[in-house]
Amino acid sequence: MRAGGETFRPVFYSDTRDKRALPPSGCAIHPPGYLLKSEDIADRLTYRPHHFLCSLGFEGKGYSDRFTANMTEIVEGRLRQPEGAAVEIEVVGAADDICDPCPSRRGSGCTAQAKIDRLDAAHAAALDIAPGDVLTWGKALERMAALPADVHQTICAECQWLSAGMCAAALARLQDKE
Ligand code: SF4
Repeated sequence: MRAGGETFRPVFYSDTRDKRALPPSGCAIHPPGYLLKSEDIADRLTYRPHHFLCSLGFEGKGYSDRFTANMTEIVEGRLRQPEGAAVEIEVVGAADDICDPCPSRRGSGCTAQAKIDRLDAAHAAALDIAPGDVLTWGKALERMAALPADVHQTICAECQWLSAGMCAAALARLQDKE
């Protein structure tokens, strides 16, 4: 049961794999066809500041199969589901639910910690969020929709995914819907 009495709706991988772009091996955590149980996924997600826009732009690419499968579970399996706007996210200043299986994670830190810290600081300022804040994905979408259209060019300047253009394209789609 999630906050506010809302029940998490389980998702069959076998029903959704085509839409969720899981790796060919399926999920690295659960076997194909596994029925997610509410206790498998913490009710409230933890996100470091720069992972809000990363999740908006996510297209199934990542740093390893496990990383991609985990991010697919979170983004496609929760945030992009019909009830995803109600998912609560706690802003944290260290490794979060996206970082968990990342090959670059070292405990609560990262092998590229200085760069990650700069990304987090820039995204936190843009979205007016700080560690300890809790907001829903729906509220995060509102804040992202209010950002300048070219915001990635400054706050994501050090990110290897910037040149792919998918994050800016996702923000443009979001802003077109507003
Ligand atoms: S460019 Fe990089 S840091 Fe910026 S939203 Fe995309 S993945 Fe995240």
